[in-house]
Amino acid sequence: SWPTVAIVGRPNVGKSTLVNRILGRREAVVLDEPGVTRDRVTYEAQWNGRDFHLVDTGGWDVGVKGLDKAVAQQAEIAISLADVALFVVDANVGATASDEEMMRLLRSSKKPVILAANKVDSERAEADAAALWNLGLGEPYPISALHGRGVGDLLDVLVQAL
Ligand code: GDP
Ligand code: MG
Repeated sequence: SWPTVAIVGRPNVGKSTLVNRILGRREAVVLDEPGVTRDRVTYEAQWNGRDFHLVDTGGWDVGVKGLDKAVAQQAEIAISLADVALFVVDANVGATASDEEMMRLLRSSKKPVILAANKVDSERAEADAAALWNLGLGEPYPISALHGRGVGDLLDVLVQAL
């Protein structure tokens, strides 16, 4: 079966925007049963001729303080089912307590993690991405899910990890 990538991160960092960017104009195929796993939606994606499943962990209220229990649970399930985790952080905001909490989940899963530093909309913002080296997850890949900046390079790295 196809390898699975789980997109995780606290609410509002741009996970769903990144999913849409990766899927492009292609019709997203929703594989999960609605109502059963409505907080985890799986899409079929492709890059460099490589097929993979992309799991968006979403559907929570924005503005929740700390890492909501439901968010953590969904992320944990998604990570456990995934081959690789794509961890999205808002580079403009930097790493928050919720990001640190998500990192603990990722560490305990022992799955490979690729760190996407999102909302790097301009070259000027790349210093914000570099600050995320501090998370200890290796190289932060600066992207703008909104504008597409850096997403190709991120996907090159991602499919090599599959
Ligand atoms: P999610 O909760 O992690 O799925 O985040 P969303 O994809 O719903 O995005 C949350 C907000 O961040 C929306 O207003 C997006 O338009 C915005 N956003 C997402 N990616 C970017 C980006 O690369 N740059 C900027 N400036 N805004 C972004
Ligand atoms: Mg979302």
